Amino acid sequence: MTTQVGFIGLGIMGHPMALNLHKAGHQVFVHARRPASMAPLAQAGCIACDTAAAVAASADVIFIMVADTPDVEQVIFQENGVIHGAKPGAVVVDMSTISPTATRRFAKDLQARGLEMLDAPVSGGDVGAINGTLSIMVGGKPAVFERVKPLFEAMGKNIVLVGDNGAGQVAKACNQIVVAVTIEAVAEALTFARKSGVDPAKVRDALLGGFAGSRILEVHGKRMLDNNYQPGFKTKLHQKDMNIVMQTAKEMGLALPAAALVMQHMNALMGTGDAELDSAAVMKIIERMSGVER
Ligand code: NAP
Repeated sequence: MTTQVGFIGLGIMGHPMALNLHKAGHQVFVHARRPASMAPLAQAGCIACDTAAAVAASADVIFIMVADTPDVEQVIFQENGVIHGAKPGAVVVDMSTISPTATRRFAKDLQARGLEMLDAPVSGGDVGAINGTLSIMVGGKPAVFERVKPLFEAMGKNIVLVGDNGAGQVAKACNQIVVAVTIEAVAEALTFARKSGVDPAKVRDALLGGFAGSRILEVHGKRMLDNNYQPGFKTKLHQKDMNIVMQTAKEMGLALPAAALVMQHMNALMGTGDAELDSAAVMKIIERMSGVER
């Protein structure tokens, strides 16, 4: 069945995701700040709109894929935002990675206006977005999830309703903790091998088959060995996500010592001009601290 859907935020992730909805046969109304971001989608058959409100006026389900919490707030609530066009009962689906606390507030505000919300952040990167194989972690009401699920299936494969509003963002924060701390562990282990005079590539090979094996050892470990930090997932985005993790932990009075340490190393990367590198570049900080040269 053709559904009229909206898509706001057409960057590395939003562009291919909107395209996959279009390819699945839906009528897709799109918006980004710059006309240049909308042009290729309009050429592909999507309908470009000047404002988020115009997208919302045409769609039953409105997807958002922008950078950070203030961007989502702006797109939904500010002048020309989604609330100024949305039809009663429409669903706002935020797929950006943002604060769980702010997400719960947004959901409450939308509900007070007769609108539904799901938070549905993703994992899988640009490759997953292009191939329609993203993991999608959803927070919201089960009935609303069931309504949107066929649309999620055009963009992802592993689609899980985790809990109520905000639970999707909590799951994504958990994902980023595991990825960050594992990157740190892999960087330290491979540097330990190198400093010991043992080939770190051989160590990685040996570890991949055992309990220390992981996707991070495989993918990020290879980037570290090759000294090639082409993203991938940029340090500035990973740092943004760790900031969400640490801020939320602070609100809860929760200590996350390992995550906090990795965030310091990401801060250092930002300060040394490496914001655009893949976050596996944490390796550079570990090497620098102990004078490891290659
Ligand atoms: P991106 O390439 O920077 O794209 C962001 C898009 O949002 C752009 O099209 C931008 O418009 C639009 N936008 C931002 N603020 C806006 C506003 N206030 N009003 C209207 N449009 C606005 O970012 P991305 O890599 O696609 O990431 C999007 C989200 O997905 C982030 O939360 C990120 O953490 C998450 N994520 C990313 C990856 C990844 O591998 N990149 C993986 C998983 C999750 P313009 O084009 O006009 O500038």
